[in-house]
Amino acid sequence: MLTLALSKGRIFEETLPLLAAAGITVSEDPEKSRKLILSTSQADVRVVLVRATDVPTYVENGGADVGVAGLDVLIEHGGAGLYQPLDLQIAKCRMSVATRDDFDYASAVKQGSRIRVATKYTAIARQHFADKGVHVDLIKLYGSMELAPLTGLADAIVDLVSTGSTLKANHLVEVERILDVSSRLVVNQAALKLQREPIRRLIDAFAQAVAARQ
Ligand code: ATP
Ligand code: MG
Repeated sequence: MLTLALSKGRIFEETLPLLAAAGITVSEDPEKSRKLILSTSQADVRVVLVRATDVPTYVENGGADVGVAGLDVLIEHGGAGLYQPLDLQIAKCRMSVATRDDFDYASAVKQGSRIRVATKYTAIARQHFADKGVHVDLIKLYGSMELAPLTGLADAIVDLVSTGSTLKANHLVEVERILDVSSRLVVNQAALKLQREPIRRLIDAFAQAVAARQ
């Protein structure tokens, strides 16, 4: 049995066509069912639904053999124990710094002020500001980062941006791009040895489908 860890939402939706290219159809729609384990058209392949940030943990520890995770999640998790054979070019966005539109970020940086930064991505943020030599106080959040500058909790946020419409709706502006993000296929190291053939087939089918879409 090959177990694939996916998160609900855009990663699940955007992985479906890649699975189809590998001849795999998922039996149920996770938005309509409460099941956490989904069977597929291949009796020896199943999908487990986990939180996006839990995908690396499941795959690294053998709760799943393979998974799909955003580069953001992989960097934060520290994907050292994972084989990462393929950029799937799905769930594309970027990691950026954003502030209120009336906050002068460039001046704050220039003057060497301490900047309060709220984020779910503390490892990426810490590294980014350390590289720039900017002093920051990091405030760890688990959601709704956009609210932090509006309430005075922070001067800036580090968050994922795709269209920018959420920032705009909250009077925030993107002031710095940190990283381009897309989702990657991740594989458990032991599974790669024990289930070499089915995993190779999956990687090859995904790779062909990704190449065909570019
Ligand atoms: P939850 O919404 O349950 O709190 P989450 O925010 O981590 O979890 P998603 O919003 O589904 O989960 O994001 C999952 C992954 O999709 C992220 O890790 C990132 O790689 C990617 N992603 C997030 N936001 C966007 C976006 N706006 N556009 C494209 N990809 C995105
Ligand atoms: Mg989300």
